[in-house]
Order: sequence, then structure tokens, then C-alpha cells
Amino acid sequence: MTNDVAIIGGGIVGLATAHALIEQQPDRRITVLDKERHWGAHQTGHNSGVIHSGLYYPPGSAKARFARAGGEAMYRFCTDHGIPVRRTGKVVVATSIDQLPRLAELQRRGTANGVQVSELDQIGLREREPHVRGVRALHVPDAGITDFAAVSEKLAELLAERGVDLRPATELLGVRRDGSDLVLLTDRGEIRTRRAVNCAGLHSDAVAELAGTTPPARVLPFRGEYYETTSFSRDLVNSLVYPVPDPAFPFLGVHLTRMIDGSLHVGPNAVPALSREGYRWGAISPSHLQRLVTDPGLRVLAKKYWRTGATEIARSALKPLFLRAARTLLPDLRGHHLLRAEAGVRAQAVTPDGTLVDDFLVVEDENWVHVLNAPSPAATASLLIGKDIAARLRSRE
Ligand SMILES: Cc1cc2nc3c(=O)[nH]c(=O)nc-3n(C[C@H](O)[C@H](O)[C@H](O)COP(=O)(O)OP(=O)(O)OC[C@H]3O[C@@H](n4cnc5c(N)ncnc54)[C@H](O)[C@@H]3O)c2cc1C
Repeated sequence: MTNDVAIIGGGIVGLATAHALIEQQPDRRITVLDKERHWGAHQTGHNSGVIHSGLYYPPGSAKARFARAGGEAMYRFCTDHGIPVRRTGKVVVATSIDQLPRLAELQRRGTANGVQVSELDQIGLREREPHVRGVRALHVPDAGITDFAAVSEKLAELLAERGVDLRPATELLGVRRDGSDLVLLTDRGEIRTRRAVNCAGLHSDAVAELAGTTPPARVLPFRGEYYETTSFSRDLVNSLVYPVPDPAFPFLGVHLTRMIDGSLHVGPNAVPALSREGYRWGAISPSHLQRLVTDPGLRVLAKKYWRTGATEIARSALKPLFLRAARTLLPDLRGHHLLRAEAGVRAQAVTPDGTLVDDFLVVEDENWVHVLNAPSPAATASLLIGKDIAARLRSRE
């Protein structure tokens, strides 16, 4: 039997795509496969759980368009399906006067993106977050928190109810053409399909190559390490506290996140991982290391960001340095409050000239849609990204 669509990758983006496709056309034959035994095993299951509001992204970008509306869709989905979710609001805090122009720029961007955002002076900040130190802050009431792994499990449950063929523990190893069909070669046999969607996250460039496409950007894995605080110190923060991000870098900086279970997480940093799923320094892949050394784009990148990279690596290795970064926001935090927590690895696309791709990146041809860059806020925006991919597939039918 030939499927209408096969989706490679059962993270939140792949599952949301299947959900949008089955909503669009309930009799479609859809398969979702993932190499892991459970859904959302990689980025989707290792993140901050923040429903972003759309504050940071350049107006007109896909991130800006999808984060704002996608966040609202995510709140509705969680509420409708009994998944814990809270619209906690967040503060972005300038800790020194020289950060004020960047804070003002963020406010301008947020307003241009239709995000509700207001300024807080020191007293206003203290009222919301009594232990956080800053000279001025932005308050964004529509940011919130959920558990994207729970969202993925619910999506998989809904897909199973609608008759979608779900295949965990099934890895795509190759692709061949048979007339107008695609034949996906997996470690559990062949899957025939007319169209396919690549939502393989950290492996999306490799899957694009299996499909015969030369991806315009390659995935560079960046590990994000977290500390969790002891339960005695979690009340130091009420909701979500962010520093003013470095505009040259696509990550948000070490922040303080009151997770949906009430725990307080500090992080993530951003260190180059030594394998695609390099959750620890010890997880090293020789082929990835060789790529790091030989890829011309990565060499340009290393030259450009060596100072930031060195600081991040030092913070990763030395807890006191990580603590020092966190204490600029939260001076009452102490080393003995912090316990290492599970890390996540971000799939960040880099072009051959060494540019970190800032926006979502999707390329398509007659048979394939490849999602080649879906970093944060893609979990927030996943339900809308899924609808966008479903619309792309429909437009070529
Ligand atoms: C540390 C960290 C913090 C973050 N914080 C936030 C946040 O607070 N808010 C937010 O909105 N976003 C956040 N993000 C980003 C968010 O997690 C991702 O954008 C989102 O999860 C991407 O989902 P995905 O489905 O594209 O990828 P993934 O969840 O990585 O899924 C890809 C799937 O493809 C599968 N796969 C790969 N290759 C194959 C193959 N050959 N065959 C079969 N299956 C394959 C993998 O097993 C994996 O399950 C964060 C990310 C990280 C790492």
C-alpha cells in the first residue's frame, strides 16, 4: 500500500504536521516514523517548556509570525486536552545601563510583532520578582509555561485515534524512487509513499541528503546545559526571568525558568556539542568532529564567535562561572542551591559561509518538504508550523 504522506521525525513538529494533515483531510494515509522508542525524545523532550510570545524576532520573519499566533494555539491545545499550562508572563531584565538601548529595541520589535509589552522600573520589577536585580525590565504577560513532551504524547494519542500509522523505533536509512512513489528504506522494512516530510531535527540535513537534496545549510548541534535549584531555593523566582540577549547570537542567554512542575531551572548555556546527540562532553562522534574541523562554514563561524564560544565552554566546565552569570540576575543564588540537570541539544542550521540561520528554514520540491531549521520558538509555534507544512503539501496536489 502506498501512503499519501510519510513524516520522518516524531518530535513536536512532525507530530503537529501529521495532526494538521489529518485535520485537513481525515481519509489521508499518513505514517509517522521515529528512530527512538518514544515520541519527542530529543529537542522536544529537552527544553525549557516556555511558550514564547514573539518578542525577540525580526518583524516579518516566520518566527515572528508563527510564535505569536502559535503560542495562542498552544495555550488552547493544552487547555482543551488537559495538559498543564500557565500564562505566567515573563520579564526581560537589563542588569546594566549599557543594555538599555537593546532593551528598547526589544520593546520596539515586540510592539511591531503585536506582542503586549510594558516597561518596568526597579520598583515594578521588585514587585513581580523581589529577588531579581536589574536597572529596568520589560514585562510580557503572554509568555507562559507547559510541557512539550506531554503535548507530543497527546498529539500521538490523537493521531492513533484517527488511524495514523505510528512507527516508533523505526529509523530512515535510505530513499529510492519507484516511478512516482518514494520508497523509504528503514531498519524495519520499506515504506512506500507519494510525499514525505523531513522533521528530523538534529538529523534533518542528513535526511535531506538521503532524499537526494543538497541542503542549503547544515545542522550544528549546540548543547544547552541546565542546573536545577534545590526545592528550598525555587521560590527565589516567580515566573520566567530572561537577560537581554546578545543580538549577534541566536540564543536567549542563561535564564531562570519556573517550570510547569514548580521546579526552578537555570540555563541553558550554548556550547558546541561533539556529536549530533551530544548530551554530555563525553558523547563524541569522530565523523562529527571531522566535520567540525573541515567544514569551511564552521571554520568561519569559529573565527567569528571564538570569544563567546570560549566563555560558554568555560561556564560549562566550571560551575562557579555559570553561577556568576546567573547571579547577575539573581544575586541570592548560591552554589549549593544548584544541581546539574538534564541537558538538551539544539539543532541550529549554519550556511556554508558560516552564518547562523536565524529564521525557520523550510525547503520543498515535488515530493519532499524539508524542515531544515526549527530552533526555538518552534515548539511554541509547532501547531502553526504543522498547518503551514500541510498547506504547502496541499498546494502541490
Ligand atoms: C535546550 C533547549 C531549550 C529550548 N527551549 C525552548 C522553549 O522554551 N520554547 C520553545 O518554543 N522552544 C524551545 N526549544 C526549541 C524546541 O525544543 C525545538 O524547536 C523543537 O522541539 C523542535 O522540534 P522538532 O520536532 O523539529 O525536533 P525534535 O524534537 O528534535 O524531533 C526530531 C525527531 O526526529 C527523529 N529522527 C532523526 N533522524 C531520524 C531518522 N533518520 N529516522 C527516524 N527518525 C529520525 C529524532 O529521533 C527526533 O525524535 C529549546 C530547545 C532546546 C534544545
